[in-house]
Amino acid sequence: MSDCVFCRIMAKQIPATIVHEDDDTLAFMDIGQVNPGHVLVALKAHRENVYALDDAQAAAVFRTVARVARAVRAAFSPAGMSIYQANGAPAGQTVLHFHIHVLPRHEGDGMELTWPVKNPPREKLEDYAAKIKAKLA
Ligand code: AMP
Ligand code: ZN
Repeated sequence: MSDCVFCRIMAKQIPATIVHEDDDTLAFMDIGQVNPGHVLVALKAHRENVYALDDAQAAAVFRTVARVARAVRAAFSPAGMSIYQANGAPAGQTVLHFHIHVLPRHEGDGMELTWPVKNPPREKLEDYAAKIKAKLA
């Protein structure tokens, strides 16, 4: 996909600062650097979102995420680490090529994710779970 910025990075048509590469994944520095050491792990193949991954791709990308997270922690000693991934505009996805953020975190770093819990009754949880289980492949 020539109009996809991450496909262009995979094809080495535009520059990226790469920290890891294997057959299925590429890990490179996020150009925005929310905190120093902020890395993106992307599939080499163009897949728009998590729904498009097969099992092997899902395994490959998270293997790289875990390896990179350990390296970022060792290199930057952050107080915490967020592993963040967005699908669709309402979730905050801006690049439509599957990727996972490895984002070192510090107290008061300004990164906000509000978590408006609803705490529904157990019956609701059972109801939601039944809906999901009926669709699990
Ligand atoms: P998301 O909102 O999860 O889709 O995140 C997309 C991320 O890609 C943002 O954090 C951008 O800073 C980052 N990004 C966009 N273009 C580039 C690029 N050419 N090289 C590195 N990171 C990029
Ligand atoms: Zn792409």
